[in-house]
Amino acid sequence: MKRLKRRCQGHEDLKTKVIKITFLLEKQYGIPLRRPSGEPLDILIETILSQNTNDRNRDQAYFRLKNRFPRWENVLEAKAESIISAIRPGGLAEQKARRIHEILRWIKEKKGKLSLSFLNKMDSDEIKETIGILKGIGPKTLHCLLLFGLGREAFPVDTHILRIGKRLGFIPEGMDAEKAHSWIVPFVPMGKSLSLHLNLIRFGREICKARNPSCSTCFLKMSVPCLKR
Ligand code: SF4
Repeated sequence: MKRLKRRCQGHEDLKTKVIKITFLLEKQYGIPLRRPSGEPLDILIETILSQNTNDRNRDQAYFRLKNRFPRWENVLEAKAESIISAIRPGGLAEQKARRIHEILRWIKEKKGKLSLSFLNKMDSDEIKETIGILKGIGPKTLHCLLLFGLGREAFPVDTHILRIGKRLGFIPEGMDAEKAHSWIVPFVPMGKSLSLHLNLIRFGREICKARNPSCSTCFLKMSVPCLKR
């Protein structure tokens, strides 16, 4: 009983900490605007192209793919080599091309047309069960699709967020990114997933960098104790 009480108190403390961080980041950076999401399939493909690369390479790969194949039907009908060559700047081109092609084929067979708009009618758990079985769609990709493509409460954990979470103590030290996805969602204030996600990434790029973080200019450390030594 005492243990349960302690665990509940620990969770409440974490919730309060995450609320505080959300508020301080918004005070500093503002509330990021939600981009109109359009077709969720576009977001899914963009997210697959973003795996293991930076935003610039992802955008280049996505732009070249859309430029060469304006409709997803064109990608489905294309030869593997053409897709690989279009997305080459994003890295892991063979693997990504194969996965994109498999996902498109799966959608076409299941729905008859290349759109993921049918996911809008499902709840988030149903979406995870439906699409999470496909190769190339791990927790981060799934959470990106939910958050950016479908406007749901979801929280993709990238390397910046994992690092900051451990330094500020809202992600346990030994936890990997895969587990951190389900760990953190209950602590994120309702309606603030997008804001906290994007502002933490900005904080990670500008201040709490992987190497040589700018601790002297850190505006969080006064209110949220930092565990980094
Ligand atoms: S004090 Fe330094 S390490 Fe800690 S959160 Fe701030 S920038 Fe990151």
